[in-house]
Amino acid sequence: MRADDRYEKMLEAVALAKNFLKQQVDLGFDEVYTQSMSKKSSVKKLHTSVKTLTDFYQEIKDCKKCHLYKNRTNLVFGAGNQNAKVMFIGEAPGREEDLQGEPFVGRAGQLLDKILAAINFKREEVYIANILKCRPPENRDPLPDEIQTCEPHLLEQIRIIQPEIICALGRIAAQALLKTRLPLGQLRGKIHDYHKVKFLVTYHPAALLRYPQYKRSTWEDVKLLRREYDNLG
Ligand code: URA
Repeated sequence: MRADDRYEKMLEAVALAKNFLKQQVDLGFDEVYTQSMSKKSSVKKLHTSVKTLTDFYQEIKDCKKCHLYKNRTNLVFGAGNQNAKVMFIGEAPGREEDLQGEPFVGRAGQLLDKILAAINFKREEVYIANILKCRPPENRDPLPDEIQTCEPHLLEQIRIIQPEIICALGRIAAQALLKTRLPLGQLRGKIHDYHKVKFLVTYHPAALLRYPQYKRSTWEDVKLLRREYDNLG
C-alpha cells in the first residue's frame, strides 16, 4: 500500500475511534473495555480526551440557569490542573472572586494558599472550584435551589478531572455533596466515600479567619489529606 493510502486509512481509523468514544460518552459510559490488556489495566478513562475543562467552560460561561447571573461580573468556573488528583471545593465566589473570575483569590484564598503550601501543594497542582459559580448577593449562604441548579456544573467538572481525593471546604460544600445535614464537626476528621472517590471535609478558610481556634483541627484534616495523597502511589 502506498504511503498516501496508508495515511488515509489511518485518518479514517482515527475518525471511527473518535466517533465511537464520543458515542460511549453520549450514552453516559465513562469507560471502555480493551480486550488485549491485562484485567487490571483494561479499563481506560475516556473523559480527558473527549471533553476538556476548556470545552466545558465554553458551554457554561454564559449560564443563566438561576437568577445569580444578573449580578455577576464574572462566572467563577474554577482553576487549576485538569489532571489534578486532588480537588478542593468551596462554597461560592465572594467579591474578589466575582471581580477576577478566579476562585479563592481574596483573604480566604490567601489562607488557602498557605494551607496548601503547608502540605506541599502548589495551587497549580490541584483543582479549586465552588458549589456555586456565581456570587450570591452580599456573600449570603447559597440557597438550596441555587445549589440544586448549579451542582451539575461541578459534577461535570469532577467527571472531567476524575480526582482521587476531594476536600470540601466548609459545611455548605460538605453537606451539599454528601447530601447530609450533619454538622461539620461530625463530618471532618475522616475519609468518606463519594462515588468511590476519597472525600474529606475541613473548615472553610473564611471560618478560620474568624475562628482561629479551628486551625488545629484543620491542620489535622489536611495532614490526613496529604497522607492519603502520598499513599495513592
Ligand atoms: N469562599 C468560597 O467558598 N469560595 C471562593 O472562591 C472564595 C471564598
